[in-house]
Amino acid sequence: MFRFGRIAPWLVLLALVLPAGPARAWSNKEHLQLTRIAVERLVADPSTPDDFRQWLRRVTPGLTDMIQEERFFLHQTVGESARGYEGLPHWATEPDARAAQDRNLLVEPFGVPERKLHFVDLELLLPAGRRPGYRDDLSGKPAMEDIPRDINDPRWKAAGMLPFRVQQCYQRLVECLGNGKLQPAYEGDEDHAIRWAGFLAHYLEDNTQPQHATVDYKSQSYFADRRHAPNVHAEMEYRMADEGRGEFLQLRKEFWPLFIKALEFPDPIQTDDPWRATLEVSLLSYDALPLIGRAARRGT
Ligand SMILES: [Zn+2]
Repeated sequence: MFRFGRIAPWLVLLALVLPAGPARAWSNKEHLQLTRIAVERLVADPSTPDDFRQWLRRVTPGLTDMIQEERFFLHQTVGESARGYEGLPHWATEPDARAAQDRNLLVEPFGVPERKLHFVDLELLLPAGRRPGYRDDLSGKPAMEDIPRDINDPRWKAAGMLPFRVQQCYQRLVECLGNGKLQPAYEGDEDHAIRWAGFLAHYLEDNTQPQHATVDYKSQSYFADRRHAPNVHAEMEYRMADEGRGEFLQLRKEFWPLFIKALEFPDPIQTDDPWRATLEVSLLSYDALPLIGRAARRGT
């Protein structure tokens, strides 16, 4: 659903902005909106099974059309709290809320805190003997065949376990849909299809961000003075999309038609295996990192 095609327009935007500013952690707006748009597209798709379509409609409040989505993108501020959003969109923002709250709580069966489920630092999966670290010539990037599928390989705990989390969310979603666990059975029940669909959407969305695939996740290697470098991650992910004072309105207007166009790009990922698909997206996205870093350097 949310794959490589979504990235390119952001890069164009990035090249245009980037004065360093205070960076607050908010990306709820994009998670809410991308999830809602995905549901709208599934609902409109004639190949979506009818009862699945009805369920999607039921669990996604606020479904609308792309005219209203454009308005939301241009003018709506969401900020750091996604309070007031229910159902599937709510669950799509919940992983970040938990990453912020439960900094030390280990999520099983992964044995890492929640925040380590949102990315995969590919350089840390290089075979022994190769020099780890991000480099502009992309020599720090492993090949698909280098990446161990074994969840117990100790490198995963450092690298981040996004591919395994995506696989788990997908499997749990399929099981819940199959068992008829379509909504919470009691207050606090978290094992139901709405939760797993929302979580899955969140991690898939994170997966499309190139900086979720590298140890250099703020593109600091592009700045001589790393300590005073702008937070390029924040600029990329949320500041331009959710700036409350209209600061980036013109850019958002330029971005929207590019985003619409990107939605129609053919999907470069062909596998149906969620674990492999996640890594393929990360590996493809990784190639955009030099563009981001260089644009960030020029933009400041
Ligand atoms: Zn996230």
